[in-house]
Amino acid sequence: MRRLFLTAALLLGCKRHHGQAWAAPPSAPAESLRDEALAGSKAADHVRSLTDEVGPRLAGSEGDAKAVAWGLAKMKSLGLTHVRAEKVMVPRWVRGVETGAVTAPHAHALTLTALGGSVPTPEGGVEADVVVVASLEALAALPDTSVAGKIVFFDKPMERTKDGLGYNRAVDVRGRGPSAAAKKGAVATLVRSITPSDARLPHTGGLRYADGVPAIPAAALAVPDAMLLRRLADAGPTRVRLVLGCHKEPDAESANVVGEVEGRSAKDEIVLLGAHLDSWDLGTGALDDGAGVGVVLEAGRLLAARPTHPRRTVRVVLFANEENGLRGGVAYAKAHEAELGKHVVALELDLGTDKIFRLDALAAPSADPKLRALTLPLASLGIAGPVKGEHFGSDISPLRAQGVPQIAFAQDATRYFDIHHSADDTFDKIDPKGLDQMVAATVAFAWGAAEMDGDFGRIPPHERGEH
Ligand SMILES: [Zn+2]
Repeated sequence: MRRLFLTAALLLGCKRHHGQAWAAPPSAPAESLRDEALAGSKAADHVRSLTDEVGPRLAGSEGDAKAVAWGLAKMKSLGLTHVRAEKVMVPRWVRGVETGAVTAPHAHALTLTALGGSVPTPEGGVEADVVVVASLEALAALPDTSVAGKIVFFDKPMERTKDGLGYNRAVDVRGRGPSAAAKKGAVATLVRSITPSDARLPHTGGLRYADGVPAIPAAALAVPDAMLLRRLADAGPTRVRLVLGCHKEPDAESANVVGEVEGRSAKDEIVLLGAHLDSWDLGTGALDDGAGVGVVLEAGRLLAARPTHPRRTVRVVLFANEENGLRGGVAYAKAHEAELGKHVVALELDLGTDKIFRLDALAAPSADPKLRALTLPLASLGIAGPVKGEHFGSDISPLRAQGVPQIAFAQDATRYFDIHHSADDTFDKIDPKGLDQMVAATVAFAWGAAEMDGDFGRIPPHERGEH
């Protein structure tokens, strides 16, 4: 997950709507689906299967191709129909050797990992003095002469927060730092890993090189190593040597994996449940985003197993290439352009395994009473809302740009970023009970949205985001 992102927002208006009465869908089916999931879902089994049988699945890799085959087979075995792979060309980036060391004033090996998309260092590596900055703004304030020829080290600690917003506030140095440093003549960039954890594990993540600026190598330091480098640099001139062998290969074929629970009458109207199938290469992508994959597959299985399907079609989409390109989300919006008007709502799960505490929504203002009614069965799960959200899943952001209403479940992200994008993102971190609660909320909401009369309208143009 790159853009997370739930900000505190206003409660949706509570005033009574007069005029035509709207009949809420019967709550009994949503409640029974919810209770069935809560009593013990198979979501953790799906995550175990994906992480143990496929493993890491960076876009365009062999693991990615295996994941697509896994997704197709799994959807069919769970009773979804119209199961297909919708082709997407994705960037292919390969990690290579990655080492670093402080060479002066005191020799130390550094624990680091290349940022996804980084160019390699020149043959033999790069060695230079380090200049430490706390933010993009601090870098901008430095004269070019104090940056040229140096390695810029962004030392911006991430704050631990329940809503995960600490990530949002820290991550700009990873995404934009390398080009900002290169613009001033830097030869490489290091960032303190974007994590609140002090474990000696580096956390990777995507970077975005700006056009017209040299692409320079970039790596993330484990937090204890970042703290060491900071202490040394505070005391006096410090030199670092960096060797990165990562490289880019031609785009490769991947796919969005799509399956459906066909609606019993309004088959062409869609309630979309999404998660992303790709992962970073360091761990096995259990929390990011095996958890989301397991939850949406299990919600699909529970709905498909009902003798009577909801009125509308519930479509499960496992997106390609969320981590380092967003090609899957963009390709989905393009391939389905003609039917986006019939996408009633889109929901994406991409924030780990811990419990949901609030439902965030963005839709037409007239949708407020419907959102309130559909959130009611979630109250017993400890889920508040609906709240007007600002930030939603990245794969569904191209749908937001087209006005498709968005739902985000705010999950407890207190520990998520300790693990996210690191070698520690493995199945043992999964909380099966957390997944059961997530499935319960997802399936109950999906059933309501697929069954209700009328829809959520469209997101007003000024709230459609930047895509
Ligand atoms: Zn993710």
